[in-house]
Amino acid sequence: MVGKYRVDGKKSIKLKDFPTADKGIFKNKEEGLLKLGENIEIISELQNKLYAEDTYSLLIIFQAMDAAGKDGTIKHVFSGINPQGFQIFNFKQPSREELDHTYMWRTSKSMPERGRIGVFNRSYYEDVLVVRVHNLLSTQHLPKEKQYKDIWKRRFHNIREQERYLFENGVIPIKFFLNVSKEVQKERFLERIEDPSKNWKFSSADIEERKYWDDYQDAYEDAINHTSTSYAPWYVIPADKKWFAKFAVSEIIKETLESLNLKYPELNKTQKSELKNYKEILLKEK
Ligand code: ATP
Ligand code: MG
Repeated sequence: MVGKYRVDGKKSIKLKDFPTADKGIFKNKEEGLLKLGENIEIISELQNKLYAEDTYSLLIIFQAMDAAGKDGTIKHVFSGINPQGFQIFNFKQPSREELDHTYMWRTSKSMPERGRIGVFNRSYYEDVLVVRVHNLLSTQHLPKEKQYKDIWKRRFHNIREQERYLFENGVIPIKFFLNVSKEVQKERFLERIEDPSKNWKFSSADIEERKYWDDYQDAYEDAINHTSTSYAPWYVIPADKKWFAKFAVSEIIKETLESLNLKYPELNKTQKSELKNYKEILLKEK
């Protein structure tokens, strides 16, 4: 059901061809939420195995326009997860210290440890998105001759190589673009303005960014086309219905974890017989 949102680089895509609203095979929201609940439980069980095995980790990247539902999706989909095996990082406007390093420095030092699920709320993709749309290269302290004419192509290449490196070392990248429509973004902004409990979520910068909607769509499309691979696919998730986006994300994470064939580590013969001895010692205790 979610396979059709997968982009793995076999052919180039147009964002316009991807729906922003979908409800899959579900008759209604309740049915979808039920399935989401089931997925959350399965993911929790698989996470235990991931942690016990201590070899693979997941790197889950969320990118989207404002108000597409990144925060709510993360909050809901990972609600069954053991915090011990979970790491989340938000990447906002870079600090001075971050700008004094190369653009993948801050994300590289935030990679998930083995056995963990790591989430990036925004990522190094901002450096081919907002930086491209707003022409922020001049803030990045690059030597003049390194401000290449084809810098975006070069960055896509950097990113593909970095993701291949991760994959080949057991860090499995999954990338979600929450694809919200311009109309629904407007509705959600209005809600944030009208509902006092949501006022804090509203920022005037969001209105400013909305003016660049088409430029962002182009930048996203180009980035997705150049960085979708079999080892680090993008998923273009319809995000106008929050419940469906959450379900779709949970389904993809579940399927990816299942594909890893995770197992609790098995003890060898000597270890097993040692356990027997320890059991006897414990049972003999008075
Ligand atoms: P929310 O849903 O709460 O609005 P958000 O992820 O949009 O979450 P904000 O604090 O509103 O968080 O915005 C973070 C901003 O930082 C985004 O506009 C993003 O484009 C910007 N940003 C992230 N990385 C970079 C970067 N490398 N260079 C410039 N701007 C960046
Ligand atoms: Mg924002």
